[in-house]
Amino acid sequence: MAGETEAAYQDDAYLSTLEARLLRIDGERGLVFDRSNFFASGGGQPGDTGFIETADGRQIAIVDTRASDDRSAIVLTAIEGADLPSPGDTLVLHVDWARRYKLMRMHTACHLLTVACPFPVTGAAVGEDESRVDFDIPEAAADKGELTRRLMELVAANHPVFTRWITDADLDANPDLVKSKNVKPPRGSGRIRLVCIGEDGAVDTQPCGGTHVLETAEVGEVHIGKIEKKGKENRRFRIRFGPLPAA
Ligand SMILES: [Zn+2]
Repeated sequence: MAGETEAAYQDDAYLSTLEARLLRIDGERGLVFDRSNFFASGGGQPGDTGFIETADGRQIAIVDTRASDDRSAIVLTAIEGADLPSPGDTLVLHVDWARRYKLMRMHTACHLLTVACPFPVTGAAVGEDESRVDFDIPEAAADKGELTRRLMELVAANHPVFTRWITDADLDANPDLVKSKNVKPPRGSGRIRLVCIGEDGAVDTQPCGGTHVLETAEVGEVHIGKIEKKGKENRRFRIRFGPLPAA
């Protein structure tokens, strides 16, 4: 994301707090800063919540974060009835870290699932307690226990997770990088962010704008909770934290 707000979380997903200057108020309760550690919802990951703190220590709750329509600005939505700061003010932005860290672990687990289950992805949604990934699978080639085992093998291997930028032309030359059938990576800025797992991205490399952990072991224990049939060739997989419950 380039433009009005610098998306600081794209370079460092671990910025739980960040000092930023308020540029303008968008609509009634939207706050646009010069930079943001709050993730703007997109790619199946929900926007961040938390609070912002004024120079005199006043705290204002943030209930959602989204990108502006042209994607040039990140808009933090203040809680209804809040006494808003003024443009020009410098504030400290505090992400609800417990929630965000769970989303980072879950989001990374979703990438690993596409490795454990190498079929085209038709949809995904990251949640703090449960995530889902939809796959185009002809037969129910899916076994909860076996997939959980493969997923945990990737977690335990503690592969590095890192990002790298490529151009639109690079992506055109490597169309296999895109695993999702329906969602195409955003174009127009001329560059695309790749999320890579493993040495040189050998485990997995795909376009993604979300936030992830730095090493797969940080995902912790997860399991495949439920596999549902969604249409003829569609299976919905749910990822949950904790060990696979005994059958
Ligand atoms: Zn991702």
